Amino acid sequence: MANKALIAGNWKMNTTLDSAQELIRDLLKQIPPDVNADIAVYPPFTVLYQLGELLKDSVVALGAQDLFWEEKGAYTGEISAAQIRDSGATLVLAGHSERRHVIGEDNETVHRKVMAALKGRLDACLCVGEKQEQRESGQTSDIVQSQLKSGLKDVDPSDISKVTIAYEPVWAIGTGLTATPEQAQEVHLFIRKLLKELYGEKAGEIRILYGGSAKPQNAAQLLSMPDVDGLLVGGASLDAESFAGIINAAGSSTAAWGGKLPYMKNRA
Ligand code: PGA
Repeated sequence: MANKALIAGNWKMNTTLDSAQELIRDLLKQIPPDVNADIAVYPPFTVLYQLGELLKDSVVALGAQDLFWEEKGAYTGEISAAQIRDSGATLVLAGHSERRHVIGEDNETVHRKVMAALKGRLDACLCVGEKQEQRESGQTSDIVQSQLKSGLKDVDPSDISKVTIAYEPVWAIGTGLTATPEQAQEVHLFIRKLLKELYGEKAGEIRILYGGSAKPQNAAQLLSMPDVDGLLVGGASLDAESFAGIINAAGSSTAAWGGKLPYMKNRA
């Protein structure tokens, strides 16, 4: 069984080509050659191709932050799975909370995106998480369950190893308020049980990442939880030293994850 956490950086709408290349070069310098973590970055679409060239022979996998569900056609401004692959990226996020709550994507939209990603040979990271008021009114499990079940609806068991789940409580994203390791573990365990109901033993192949103000100072504690298999990092991934600090914290964790994302470092 592999014993590696996945540390993924979501750059959101930050960087232009120069600053993106500089950030990647800085990061590559800081990753130890014997690193004991899987690493991915999700930069903006506009820099994917150039970063793909820089990352080709590195351990860092490349992902896009979003995609559209159709394969091609009259969808002004949208980007397809094939276009993402063309850029060199092999991973994609679906249903990030900013897509859900700022742009207005619903569960059905996110579901279509997951299906399009898998069909288009991308590993998909499905993001789920409750808002502050939903947590306060005791709806965390209901929200997470409905986002998870509708996101994964129709995902064939043979495809589930291409999926990662990110639990990102909306109240913890970009706010500096991190969920405690126990709060994260409670929801991760709930997700793991749901995945077992849906996919049986294959649930062990699905990594569940935590996201929401993860930083070098809290990474090791979060990763010490049995069902926290990695971190999706926003703000702290924009600084090479912070992101490398999180990667190093992961190197000493014992994330128990049994699978391997098939496309992660495979552009074929
Ligand atoms: P944050 O963002 O680390 O800045 O809270 C996490 C995310 O949105 O993926």
